Amino acid sequence: MSSLATMLATMSDIDSTLDDLKEELGDLPQQVKDAEEYVRAKSMHTEKAEKDLKEIELFKINSGNRLLEIKDKEDQLAQQQFNVRNNKEFDAITNEIEMLRDERNKIYDEQRTVGVKEENLTSILEESKKELEEAQKGLAGKEDELTSISHGHNDEILQHTKQRAELAQAIPVSILAEYERIRTFHKDAAVKVKKNSCSGCFSKVPPQRIVEMRNKPDTMFLCEHCGRILLGE
Ligand SMILES: [Zn+2]
Repeated sequence: MSSLATMLATMSDIDSTLDDLKEELGDLPQQVKDAEEYVRAKSMHTEKAEKDLKEIELFKINSGNRLLEIKDKEDQLAQQQFNVRNNKEFDAITNEIEMLRDERNKIYDEQRTVGVKEENLTSILEESKKELEEAQKGLAGKEDELTSISHGHNDEILQHTKQRAELAQAIPVSILAEYERIRTFHKDAAVKVKKNSCSGCFSKVPPQRIVEMRNKPDTMFLCEHCGRILLGE
């Protein structure tokens, strides 16, 4: 059976390895999330341009149909004007023809405006599709990176976690609790005494204490200055 000091040293090594493994993933998971959001924004942009273009297409069809209707109606009214019985009827038809002409001119104006809008939207859509494609590539790259790193890491993390669990069973509960408590303040909860000093805070460890540590490998000693667990040299 290993001494408490040895077990704490091993525990501390495992924990710092686990910390490193998790740290290596860094902000990659966040980067993936950001890339996903960017793709969403770009696809909404693309969809909006597509929807606007469809509306324009519909307007073009409807206004074209309306222009044909107007033309028919005008021809019809022109015919009727030959057969009027009085001036009043003639004026009424003239008035109606003028209204149709106004409507036609209004449609022409709208068609011109929409034509410009359509051109702009078409280039916006083209640009947007390119950006979306780039964004999707970027996301796929980040996802691959994350998958490959965490894949390699998962085995290692699993192995160390298992080893840690075994060790945790061998260490007295109260000491383990103390170790965990110290770890909330110092990631390196258990440190070696080097050159008669705590290697966590570099303050001197009294010689008498060092002798005591050597004689009692199953007692936990804390640095009086920083509170880390001290491990023998
Ligand atoms: Zn210390």
